[in-house]
Amino acid sequence: MPRILLYLWPLPVTLLGMLVALLARGSGGAWQRFDGVLEAAGGWPARLLQRGFPFSGAVAAITLGHVVVGVSAAALAATRAHERAHVRQFERWGMLMVVLYPLAGLLAWLRGGHPYRDNWFEREARAAETAVQD
Ligand SMILES: [Zn+2]
Repeated sequence: MPRILLYLWPLPVTLLGMLVALLARGSGGAWQRFDGVLEAAGGWPARLLQRGFPFSGAVAAITLGHVVVGVSAAALAATRAHERAHVRQFERWGMLMVVLYPLAGLLAWLRGGHPYRDNWFEREARAAETAVQD
């Protein structure tokens, strides 16, 4: 698939990510471009990540299309393999991720699993972490 399509397909989510990245930068955070992805660290969004979300609890980083928002630069480096797997998921599923990710969590829960840990998208991302370490 042409590289531009990989960026266009999840673009609405990437734009949301850019908004969060702007909030990070405007509240003391920093940006860096790494491997075709905008990474934002620190600032106000970092406090939100540390407070956590329902099901997942506190997280070190979150991927929104081609934007990854992290607690810190160190957190971005530590979670890069995992979050890049999520970027590839956004490239594969595009905007549909907004629906598919929570659906996968619901499916995991209906099967008796945990909606975050057993979510198919999280399992795939965790598998990418170990693949890099091997
Ligand atoms: Zn994840």
